[in-house]
Amino acid sequence: MPLVYLGLGSNVGDGAATIRAAFVELSRLLSSARLSRLWRTQAMYVKDQPDFTNAAAMGSTELPPLELLAALQGIEAEFGRDRAQERVKGPRKLDIDILLYGEFVIAEASLTVPHAGLRERRFALEPLLDLDPCLRDPKDGAAFSAILAALPPQGIYLLG
Ligand code: AMP
Repeated sequence: MPLVYLGLGSNVGDGAATIRAAFVELSRLLSSARLSRLWRTQAMYVKDQPDFTNAAAMGSTELPPLELLAALQGIEAEFGRDRAQERVKGPRKLDIDILLYGEFVIAEASLTVPHAGLRERRFALEPLLDLDPCLRDPKDGAAFSAILAALPPQGIYLLG
């Protein structure tokens, strides 16, 4: 079964509680699921919004990539996310992205894996590397730890 890595984010309401509760739901989808530490991060793209809480989750799944994506969007909706009411890259109750799906490289209309923003996002890489500091990009074998080390500061710290 492929090992998948997911990025989670929330900046509406109690982000830490939302992410912990979402992880309980993810544990039903993923075998041997694990959650990273929780991080508090400044919003990267649209700046005039509250800080995010971010984490990463991992586990094995039998679900093919597009079915996994649909299941994750179902969990986002369960937590009250309403895409129709949202600003692009604006505040959201819960965002779950597929960061990595085994060693697969996927370029579908609705799914890009590794996630297209992963290599520029400290808020995704720090939690991802909590789960496995040796992870590499399946596209070119680059170590995510080296990619993270070369990024500019982005206002991110561990939640105490
Ligand atoms: P978002 O607003 O971040 O939840 O994502 C918007 C859209 O990105 C979704 O409707 C997905 O179809 C698409 N998408 C593309 N690649 C990914 C990925 N790796 N993980 C999650 N969503 C993705």
